[in-house]
Amino acid sequence: MSAYDANNVFAKILRGEIPCNTLLETEHALAFHDIAPVAPTHVLVIPKGAYVNAADFYARASEAEIIGYARAITAALKALGLSDGFRLISNNGASAGQSVFHFHTHILAGRPMHALLAKE
Ligand code: 5GP
Repeated sequence: MSAYDANNVFAKILRGEIPCNTLLETEHALAFHDIAPVAPTHVLVIPKGAYVNAADFYARASEAEIIGYARAITAALKALGLSDGFRLISNNGASAGQSVFHFHTHILAGRPMHALLAKE
């Protein structure tokens, strides 16, 4: 895993250098709408700390950050009115589809989602 790059786009959003459409903000996390949604609801939840991906976050973050992040996802789901019919995705590494190297969870909802991946 590469080192954290503080010039990634989500770090810039956290610093207020570029705008985002914020859903909610907590002590430990920010939730905002994806700029290129692939479902009617497509929200990203990011921790405020500098973590490359889920593997990095869950290995290094404090318990307060991890619990705060999980609660922020719950708060985002509530704000979106979602109790089921949604998918949470965190891509880890370019080969898994990660394109922004600041840990984030996608919340996807609003259209049918069947098999997780198409068969090769
Ligand atoms: P990944 O491919 O890393 O799992 O997801 C990155 C997501 O970030 C993509 O869905 C992409 O559309 C979104 N994204 C990239 N740049 C921006 C941006 O500047 N603003 C917002 N709101 N989303 C972005």
